Amino acid sequence: MVDALSEPVAALLDEAARARAHVMILTGAGISAESGVPTFRGAEGYWRVGSRNYHPQEMATHEAFVEMPDEVWAWYLYRRSVCRAASPNAAHEALVALERALGDRFLLVTQNVDGLHLRAGQTLARTYQIHGNIDFMRCADECADAIDRVPEAIDREWAKGRAIGDAERALLQCGRCGGRARPHVLWFDETYDEPRYRFESSIRAARATSLLVVVGTSGATNLPMQIGSIVARRGVPILDVNPEENPFTNLARSTPRGAWLAGAAAKTVPAIVERLAASALG
Ligand code: NAD
Ligand code: ZN
Repeated sequence: MVDALSEPVAALLDEAARARAHVMILTGAGISAESGVPTFRGAEGYWRVGSRNYHPQEMATHEAFVEMPDEVWAWYLYRRSVCRAASPNAAHEALVALERALGDRFLLVTQNVDGLHLRAGQTLARTYQIHGNIDFMRCADECADAIDRVPEAIDREWAKGRAIGDAERALLQCGRCGGRARPHVLWFDETYDEPRYRFESSIRAARATSLLVVVGTSGATNLPMQIGSIVARRGVPILDVNPEENPFTNLARSTPRGAWLAGAAAKTVPAIVERLAASALG
């Protein structure tokens, strides 16, 4: 395992562990690629495929939900079926082990809505899902702040006809006011906030962390880039795990002892964790 890491990176991780450093992990679609959930740019283009008539940028909006809630839900249930069929991989599992080893010195910020981090066993308290999670829904009329689990029965109903009918609508209701529920995801025409998406908490963590490990993100979205910039400006090391160069690569190289770890998440993340957790426990 350890040979996945260069000597300077291994030394940095050993030091971080010895110093009982706070470690922030920032993940994107790339960490789930080896679980079979396609990335945004991936060849299958799954995240790009919209409905018959709409592109994702049009479907994943509040405006679209107001105009055609059934079609938007059908599209999310299709994506959900892909995510539910996938299982956490070695990178997800290693991060669970890291949280167990570090406790409150660990924080995971994820852009993924596939739910794989929580399904792997990560705690909600230390997992900021900054773009939401398709396993959850909430009242579209905002009658309460509560976030509810999408009922498992919906997958069975939807699979029958792959359309939203009365049975599906009944399951996708707000349990409090009886109005429509909506997917608990951040849409393109919406903004980050604290109660739902942990915006301020993520910024605060970026200002305090002693190490940032970025895994499988292309840096196309706003908050992840802000987190990277804040950490880099503080002169705190960034490690960027990604088979391809991306905007975080240069940011990582600009930090003292920061580095690009050019490899796949399922091999590199366990190697990082083995180092951080072993020294932390030893
Ligand atoms: P992205 O698709 O834009 O970028 C994925 C990155 O992962 C790329 O840089 C790619 O080189 C890298 N990658 C590919 N395979 C990898 C591997 N095996 N190991 C490590 N890295 C690998 O994804 P993004 O930056 O997360 O942004 C996409 C947006 O779309 C986000 O807002 C996200 O919420 C959403 N999205 C979510 C999922 C999901 O939940 N799994 C999937 C696709 C898109
Ligand atoms: Zn309601």
